[in-house]
Amino acid sequence: MTSVHDVAVVGLGPVGATLTALLAQRGVRVLVVEQSADVFALPRAAHIDHMGLRTLQELGLLDELLPGMIPNPGLEFRSADGETLMRIPGDQGSVSGLPASMYFHQPTLDGTLRRHALSLPGVTARVPATLESFGQDQDGVTLRLRHPDGTETRERASWLIGADGSWSPVREGAGLTLEDLGFDERWLVVDLQLPRPMPHLPTQAVHMCDPRRPHTAIPMPDLRYRFELQLNEEDDPAEAVRPERVAELLSGWLDVDDVEVVRAATYVFHGLVARRWRAGRVLIAGDAAHQMPPFLGQGMCSGMRDAVNLAWKLARVVRARMDLAEAEPVLDTYESERKPHVRAITEAVIAFGGVICSRDPEYAAERDRRLLADPRPLEKRIPFSLPRLQPGPLVAEGGGRLFGQPPVRGRGLDDTVGDRFLLIARDRRDVDPWWCVQDDVLTVVTEPGAGDELRRFAARTLESRGVRVVLVRPDRYVLYAGDDVDHVREAYSLLRGREGVLS
Ligand SMILES: Cc1cc2nc3c(=O)[nH]c(=O)nc-3n(C[C@H](O)[C@H](O)[C@H](O)COP(=O)(O)OP(=O)(O)OC[C@H]3O[C@@H](n4cnc5c(N)ncnc54)[C@H](O)[C@@H]3O)c2cc1C
Repeated sequence: MTSVHDVAVVGLGPVGATLTALLAQRGVRVLVVEQSADVFALPRAAHIDHMGLRTLQELGLLDELLPGMIPNPGLEFRSADGETLMRIPGDQGSVSGLPASMYFHQPTLDGTLRRHALSLPGVTARVPATLESFGQDQDGVTLRLRHPDGTETRERASWLIGADGSWSPVREGAGLTLEDLGFDERWLVVDLQLPRPMPHLPTQAVHMCDPRRPHTAIPMPDLRYRFELQLNEEDDPAEAVRPERVAELLSGWLDVDDVEVVRAATYVFHGLVARRWRAGRVLIAGDAAHQMPPFLGQGMCSGMRDAVNLAWKLARVVRARMDLAEAEPVLDTYESERKPHVRAITEAVIAFGGVICSRDPEYAAERDRRLLADPRPLEKRIPFSLPRLQPGPLVAEGGGRLFGQPPVRGRGLDDTVGDRFLLIARDRRDVDPWWCVQDDVLTVVTEPGAGDELRRFAARTLESRGVRVVLVRPDRYVLYAGDDVDHVREAYSLLRGREGVLS
């Protein structure tokens, strides 16, 4: 049987839809399978960071979605007495040239991503259809799908990606297992629709580190508001979602008769990361590969980073018609880059969870005393920043940081570079002509006196890093910063396949 589709993506949540669109925009033929005819109508994620926004920019959806979001002025951690213990800023600029952090409405985002993904040429949709099982051989993967009328069909693809959420049948079917990072707390999530602005509610997200009932208040766009409340061991989850109990639990903030309770649901917040992210031709992404408590709003953002990391590599694997053996060194960098990154974030979130969730009044009093006596600014008390990528085959000397995005001719640099490498050099002699004939490398030489915005930015970049050359990957991470780009010619060539094809 010949492969009909290059890649099959199972799951059209935010991660599967992002991955499908990023692949299709690169000319990859994608089969997408989703069991639900419509997007999940209630929000789970509320916060998106600048890297997520940068991905929306790449998808051409930022101008449509950004006006519906609200800025995050900063996430505060407060004591039971309402004193601010520390703060993670959200209102500063970002390296991406976009707001550092925004709040959004997930069904709107998911719907827009889904519509966009399904509208792209090369995308074949099986929606609604359920993946029942799959099997792989040396050349591809065969999927068995069940349709709403009870019929079954088989589809064939070269690669299968499970973006099918926390229960991930793809992860299970591929025999991939999760490592438990040691967090297991039940929380109640209550989404409200306010009839009018309620000025007494915080206008920024606030973690109330109150040992009697740790909880979080989160403003969302269009007068939506969320409370997340930790449940005690003795709390019965079924009882916690009853309207009278919800009213009681929120009574410190508002009278629920004044608002509409859109939903109340309990979740178990976990810290889980898959041990392996690939088995042969099958890979996993998003909640299928990792789950974390939502305290820093990083779960979906991390899943979108998986999609970005995988899309440019998989597109090159497909274009160069690599077989499994040839593709393995490329695809293994997906796990070796993404797993430590998401693990570091999950561990940071769990550490913050330790601060937020303590039920021990003595510990909480001591924590509050210590943090209130800390002479450092609120932002520096327990700082959080996104990690860099660890060194590896595609992260060489000087690499691993996200590259900046200055405006270039009124647009972001990413729009100019597109799905290419960006090679910045001080002098033409720093770049072997070999690089200049590669069709997926945009070379910028910072000739002295050049007036172009991009050249000026490039010159500043080289100067600030004290190097002659910088090579940036299509996902905007720096691959190399040094004096001789030929050091990474082999690493770059990994992506061109045996025959150097990029048709
Ligand atoms: C209370 C809460 C608050 C959160 N807050 C934030 C936040 O502020 N910021 C943030 O970044 N993250 C947050 N998260 C995490 C975020 O919601 C998830 O990480 C994200 O939604 C996961 O997206 P996904 O696409 O990986 O999975 P999902 O959205 O779960 O999508 C998986 C899809 O796969 C489909 N599927 C499953 N099995 C099959 C099958 N056999 N056949 C066909 N289709 C199938 C499902 O129908 C589903 O549509 C929060 C989570 C919770 C619970």
